[in-house]
Amino acid sequence: MNTVRDTELLLVKHRDCAAEVDPQFGSITEARFVMRVHSGHGPRCRQYIAAAAYTAGQQAQDDPDA
Ligand SMILES: [Zn+2]
Repeated sequence: MNTVRDTELLLVKHRDCAAEVDPQFGSITEARFVMRVHSGHGPRCRQYIAAAAYTAGQQAQDDPDA
């Protein structure tokens, strides 16, 4: 995710707050990007919830003692 085009593709892929996130995130960078875009949308925003869960899962894998 290094170019403007990459960013635009992610914005399209994750634009709908109510959509099921499928396919899932390709990387933690993508998940964090989606968290930024959808932060503040509230508990009905599936994009934010899925991104937060993905990020938390990645962090747990990185640190098994957490
Ligand atoms: Zn949202």
